[in-house]
Amino acid sequence: MNVLVINSGSSSIKYQLIDMTTEKSLCSGLVERIGEGMGKLTHKIKPDTDAEEKIVLEQAFANHVEGMKKVVDLITDAEKGVIADKGEIYAVGHRVLLGGEEIKQSVQIDEWAKGIIRDYIPLGPLHNPANLAGIEVAEELFPHAPSVGVFDTEFHQTMPKKAYLYPLPYDLYKTLRIRRYGFHGTSHRYITKKTAQFLDKPLDQLNIITCHLGNGCSMAAVKNGQCVDTTMGITPLEGLMMGTRCGDIDPALVPFLMEKKGWSGAEIDNVMNKQSGLKGICGMNDMRDIHAAREKGDEMAELAFQMFVYRIRKYIGSFAVVVGKLDAIVFTAGIGENDDFLRAAVCKDMDILGIDIDETVNAKRSGQARHIGKPGQRVPVLVVPTNEELEIAQTTVAVLNGKN
Ligand code: AMP
Repeated sequence: MNVLVINSGSSSIKYQLIDMTTEKSLCSGLVERIGEGMGKLTHKIKPDTDAEEKIVLEQAFANHVEGMKKVVDLITDAEKGVIADKGEIYAVGHRVLLGGEEIKQSVQIDEWAKGIIRDYIPLGPLHNPANLAGIEVAEELFPHAPSVGVFDTEFHQTMPKKAYLYPLPYDLYKTLRIRRYGFHGTSHRYITKKTAQFLDKPLDQLNIITCHLGNGCSMAAVKNGQCVDTTMGITPLEGLMMGTRCGDIDPALVPFLMEKKGWSGAEIDNVMNKQSGLKGICGMNDMRDIHAAREKGDEMAELAFQMFVYRIRKYIGSFAVVVGKLDAIVFTAGIGENDDFLRAAVCKDMDILGIDIDETVNAKRSGQARHIGKPGQRVPVLVVPTNEELEIAQTTVAVLNGKN
């Protein structure tokens, strides 16, 4: 039984075909620059294995349907294909950004669900229309396969009102649905389930802080297996410092910048989302480049790194109080899984939580969940690799079996 996972962006489609009996990826890829002069399709057969094979095509894709048609050709190719025909795709799981308060759980896509995704376009202006485009592509190309929407906001639906409301006039919440929704929920949920298995603890008794540190960064406070707070808000801009996003700032800066720089709302949005964070401080947003520069004595790279670490530490402190007692602090995503130097810096001098990193195990590379703390520490520290595509595929099957 194969599930196709689609993450559709405004000019791109990320996809992965997963065999649910083995939970292994048959192929994955990315169609980029859709609707532009020259597009690009990168297709990987048996990705992340010794047998990985890569095919790169450069050609124009007029729209999402054209891009996906080419993907179908590759997937079903007589020589290099991984399935014989489209009929072998059992279902399509879609990553959807924002389902608001109406969609509390993943759902099989129907006209009602599409209407809600459409309703939330004002709050997710880049992602929700693109996600809808992906759904429409699947409906056209795979009419036999049901589509399921798996929402980034879903895991955070258990946040209490005191955590998700902004202290703004309450009427703004009632009329414009202004509140904190949280994002990266698929990853936080996957990590929570994996951590419960790894620690051999019932999910409903698990108390952890999850740190998803990639290009985008967010953390979740998980109490009894449920999210009680998270760092992102009404958009994925709130919270931690990120690659190019500023995270928490004083909101009074917005009118101040409008007045002093003459910037429009859209210009400020662009600065805060695309020109800030690590990039805003040192001009680089890939942590590997920042380390290389730090090691050569680049002071701004060092400052950007220190700021990034400091803000994670601040949220660990506040989420530890929110959760009350901790079974683990968990690192995941590109930086969280690969950057032992950053993990050590985040966990340094945290006697208040009884954390002590073991430098040797922390430095080891592995694709498996693992402890990186010294034995006997009060709060264990773990690295748990995330797999959002597998989580979407598993949820898709669960929804269709009525078990989500
Ligand atoms: P993600 O969004 O989860 O794919 O994470 C992407 C980010 O992970 C990149 O922009 C890098 O900053 C970071 N990253 C990937 N590999 C490493 C590594 N070996 N060391 C430090 N950072 C890394």
